[in-house]
Amino acid sequence: MKERAYNFSAGPSMLPEEVIKDVADNLLNYHECGESVMEMSHRSAEFKEILADAEATLRDIMNIPDNYKVLFVQGGGTLQFAMVPLNLAVNTGKIDFIVTGNWAKKAYKEAVKMGYDTKVVASSEEDTFTYIPEVKKEDFRPDADYVHICYNNTIYGTHYPYIPDTGDIPLVADMSSCILSEEIDVTKFGIIWAGVQKNVAPSGVAVVIIREDLLGKAAADIPTYLDYKIHADNDSAYNTPNTFSIYVAGEVFKYLKRNGGLAAMNKKNVAKATKLYDYIDGSGYYKAPVRKEDRSLMNVVFVIGDKDVEKKFVAEAKAAGLHNLGGHRSIGGMRASIYNAMPEEGIDKLIEFMEKFKEENAK
Ligand SMILES: *Cc1c(COP(=O)(O)O)cnc(C)c1O
Repeated sequence: MKERAYNFSAGPSMLPEEVIKDVADNLLNYHECGESVMEMSHRSAEFKEILADAEATLRDIMNIPDNYKVLFVQGGGTLQFAMVPLNLAVNTGKIDFIVTGNWAKKAYKEAVKMGYDTKVVASSEEDTFTYIPEVKKEDFRPDADYVHICYNNTIYGTHYPYIPDTGDIPLVADMSSCILSEEIDVTKFGIIWAGVQKNVAPSGVAVVIIREDLLGKAAADIPTYLDYKIHADNDSAYNTPNTFSIYVAGEVFKYLKRNGGLAAMNKKNVAKATKLYDYIDGSGYYKAPVRKEDRSLMNVVFVIGDKDVEKKFVAEAKAAGLHNLGGHRSIGGMRASIYNAMPEEGIDKLIEFMEKFKEENAK
C-alpha cells in the first residue's frame, strides 16, 4: 500500500496521525459502549459526554472566560457570513469590514446582499492582499454594530500582526485557518468563529465562541437555526448536530492539551514556518509575495513566476508524495498549508523537493 502523503491542502487538511489512529481503534465500538459514534443518538449519555468534554477541553486550551459561550453549529464557515449579521447587526444595522482577502470579502458581500449598511474601512486589495492594513479606533463608525476581520487569510497567506482596537464595538474574527495555532486573548473579541476543516476536525462544523451579552438580540422572525441563542440554550444540540465531526474535534483538543497546549503548538508552528520562509527568501528562485511582518504561519504562499513551470512543480511534487501544493484557483502559484498536524519532516521533505526542482528547472 502506498504510504500516507504529506498533505499541504488548505482544507480539509491533515489531522494528527495519533488522533486518526485512535478514532480508527474506536470506530466500530466506541470505548466498548457497543456502538460507533457514527451510530450513536445525539441524546445518549455517551454522546452528551463527548460534546461536554469537547467544549470543556476547548475552554481549557483556549482559556475561554466563563462569560463566553462555545457553540458547535453546522453550515461551515460560510453560514457564519450570514449568521453573524442576523444576530449582531440589530441596533443600527451598520457593519464595518476590513477586507484582507477572498474570505473577508465574502463576509462583506454577504452583508451587502442582505441589505445591511456596510463600510469597507480598509482594504489591501490594491496590492493583491499581500499585507494587512493598519487601522485605528477612529477609523470605525462609532455606532457600528460590529467590525468583521479575517484574522488569517487562507488564500493570500497573511495573518494580522495585531488585534485591531475597536473600542466598545464588538470585534468579530473569522479564525478558520489559524484557530488553535497560537494563544489568543479571547476577551479582545465579541465573536471568534472558525470552520473546523482547516485545523480542527472533518468538515461540517463551525466553532463559535461568543460573548454572552451578544446573545438573544436577533429579530424574532429569523430562521430558528440561525439564532445563536437557540444553540446556546440547547448546548449545541437543538437539532441533530454533526456528531462525528464534534467527536473528532474533541479528540484533537485533547491531543493538543496532552502536547503542551497552544503555546507549545505555536512554538512548533513558528519553527516550521520560519524554516520554509527562510528557504524561500534565500532560494533566489522562489518568491514569497507577502510582506514579512504579515506572513501567515499556516498558509505559506510562494511563486516561481512562470505558470507552466508552476504547474509542473505542483504535479511533480504530488508524484513525490507532497500533495495539494497548488495555490487557490483564484490566484494560482503555490501554497503550502502547514497547519498544526503537518509534522516538521513534511517541511524538510518539501524544502528538499524545492531545492531539487530548482536545480532542474532554473535557467
Ligand atoms: C475555508 C474558510 C472559510 C469557509 O469555510 P467553509 O466551511 O468552506 O464555508 C471561511 N473563512 C476562512 C478564513 C476560511 O479559510
